[in-house]
Amino acid sequence: MDQRLDDMEQGGMPTEGLPLAGKTALVTGAGSGIGRASALKLARAGANICLLDLIDERTEDVEKEIRGMGREAEFYDVDVSDQGRMERAIRAAAERFGRLDVVFANAGINGTLAPIEDLTPESWDETLGINLRGTFLTVKNAIPHMKEKGGSIVVTSSINGNRKFSGFGMSAYSSSKAGQVAFAKMAALELARYRIRVNAICPGAIETNIGENTKSTKAVDKIRIPVEYPEGAQPLEHGPGQPEQVADLVLFLASDQSSHITGTEIYIDGAETLL
Ligand code: NAD
Repeated sequence: MDQRLDDMEQGGMPTEGLPLAGKTALVTGAGSGIGRASALKLARAGANICLLDLIDERTEDVEKEIRGMGREAEFYDVDVSDQGRMERAIRAAAERFGRLDVVFANAGINGTLAPIEDLTPESWDETLGINLRGTFLTVKNAIPHMKEKGGSIVVTSSINGNRKFSGFGMSAYSSSKAGQVAFAKMAALELARYRIRVNAICPGAIETNIGENTKSTKAVDKIRIPVEYPEGAQPLEHGPGQPEQVADLVLFLASDQSSHITGTEIYIDGAETLL
């Protein structure tokens, strides 16, 4: 499908025939990594894009790149854990584009990595606040704008907390990621009546900028248990995956090609967690 998308996108070609032609997609954490790659991929598939992220010139660059394709794009500066800002941004986006069809609840941080006895309640709250509360607020505020026409919601969870539990020091992160899968399943059932599908994706190690939002502490060493396989290795790729590979899955779940898929988690980890 990619070559066809590349060909049709050249010089802001019409979107006719593209899988997301005429649709609007909202992406959180759109300035970097998986969010950035997915925003670009969804735009190349014909969608106009609402980019939500903390204020950062990286998101403005994504906005420019999408406009360069001939699609519409608008950057909204939000903290996904802030209900007031999220409610205002999503309403403004829905009004600006006139519709909301796809929502990618993706913004997240690794947060502070520490043994449970050393992890502060403030660090716990920060990670759960951005990853889990942020997902809830993204979905909650999108529903009023999606329920008439239906659509697709994709949540970025992780292998951590679902199929992997050896991310030492990541108890807050893993809890938030497990919570996202449960939330996606609850939402899938609840929103089926509006023809809104909800799925979670669970990436393994992906090469992004998430290290910038990772605060490791020395104390993690005291809880580490040796794991035999080299860190980050994946049987399929022998290294981390790329954001663009995750974006392919996001496009599939966003499009009608996945019209009977809802309420499920999908692993995208090169079999990393089957070792
Ligand atoms: P990234 O750091 O490259 O991108 C994350 C984006 O989210 C950044 O642009 C950041 O500014 C934004 N963000 C952070 N906190 C925010 C907040 N409070 N409000 C709004 N935006 C905020 O990281 P990434 O790896 O692309 O992460 C995207 C998602 O993928 C996260 O939910 C992460 O947990 C998940 N994930 C990543 C990996 C990996 O190996 N990189 C693996 C599994 C899951």
